[in-house]
Amino acid sequence: MKNDIIIIGAGAAGLMCAIEAGKRGRSVLLLDHAEKAGQKIRISGGGRCNFTNIHMAPEHYLSGNPHFCKSALACFTPRDFTGLLEKYNIQYHEKEKGQLFCRKSSLDVLRMLQDEAGKAGVEIRLRCKVTGVRKEERFLVITNQGVMESESLVIATGGLSFPDLGATGIGYHIARHFGLRVTPLSPGLAPFECDRNDMKIFGALSGISLPVRVSCRGREFQGEMLFTHHGLSGPAILQVSSYWKPGDILKIDLLPASDALEIFRARHGSRIEMHNLLAELFPRRFARTWCDLHAGSKPICRYSDKELMEMAAQLHNWEILPQGTQGYRKAEVTLGGVDTEELSSKTMEARKAPGLYFVGEVLDVTGQLGGYNLHWAWASGYAAGQYA
Ligand SMILES: Cc1cc2nc3c(=O)[nH]c(=O)nc-3n(C[C@H](O)[C@H](O)[C@H](O)COP(=O)(O)OP(=O)(O)OC[C@H]3O[C@@H](n4cnc5c(N)ncnc54)[C@H](O)[C@@H]3O)c2cc1C
Repeated sequence: MKNDIIIIGAGAAGLMCAIEAGKRGRSVLLLDHAEKAGQKIRISGGGRCNFTNIHMAPEHYLSGNPHFCKSALACFTPRDFTGLLEKYNIQYHEKEKGQLFCRKSSLDVLRMLQDEAGKAGVEIRLRCKVTGVRKEERFLVITNQGVMESESLVIATGGLSFPDLGATGIGYHIARHFGLRVTPLSPGLAPFECDRNDMKIFGALSGISLPVRVSCRGREFQGEMLFTHHGLSGPAILQVSSYWKPGDILKIDLLPASDALEIFRARHGSRIEMHNLLAELFPRRFARTWCDLHAGSKPICRYSDKELMEMAAQLHNWEILPQGTQGYRKAEVTLGGVDTEELSSKTMEARKAPGLYFVGEVLDVTGQLGGYNLHWAWASGYAAGQYA
């Protein structure tokens, strides 16, 4: 079977690329080994799909080359995506920090993309597992449904996170087969696991969420932190996890909007027990545990000013040494990927292998939390779709 383009991976990047290439009149075959297309779009944003961010900027991406994403982001903006949603009367809203979500369901986005793909004449073939690729005169794609041929080949196979949803390493394998470098891979936007001792404490606090400021390696994120049975999660923690390296300590400000010492000193004359005072600032379960760990509890008037200073400092600068992240099983994305130095930032085509393109998460471009990863998938897919 001969096609102008084969795209491997019917996720966000593959669908967008297929639509754009199809609109140019190219015959496009979109392959995926899953039962359904766009499984990650479906579960994204807790089923509401945080599809983009109005504060789109290259600074929100991690990559060996921070300039690489600029061209694609400039050619496909958040407004381009919302324009498409509006054409389909899909309602969306800004949740916080510029994050745009569907009002109803991520399935609205998925149906829209499938509809657009249908209109562009794209053939989507599911349950089709790609096991290898060769280049002769054309690209030969080896699958469980036979060998397929195309003039151009787009790799949109995503990263390693959430293997239950169909993630495989085939994209990296194909890159290496064509002599392209792949930068080291690791889980990004992932919850942390803590050691046995911390785990006991965090387990007891499991389910509690606090607004914090967390920092690591000079990066700082403000948002919710969630205690889990395994350790720490929540948006602020996921954000910082993409910058964390084994052995790094997390510094957590548990009262980012207030001055703990000022609060303590203002109440120093009273007989309120420390755990009751802290319960005015935090959930009671947390206040109790914090006192057991760090301060004991007695009437505040019986603490010396030095003790209050130490406690305040601890609340603003709590240090945690995570054992690791919870890995690809729980990571939203994969850090690292096909080295951007190997590709044209305008077209996503491999310099060493004309006709071969890489789009989406398989590349060494990883967004922060907040709609940046899906937007990278749309923008890079759109770019390659103009040229493949
Ligand atoms: C739980 C969760 C929630 C998320 N929420 C958000 C969010 O709200 N906003 C946001 O911006 N990002 C979110 N992300 C990240 C975002 O979903 C991904 O970055 C994005 O979907 C990547 O798109 P992609 O097209 O590059 O890859 P994918 O969507 O992973 O698509 C790759 C496709 O390739 C197919 N494939 C793999 N191997 C083979 C093979 N050998 N043969 C055939 N097919 C193959 C897979 O089945 C898959 O369909 C979330 C991720 C997760 C895990």
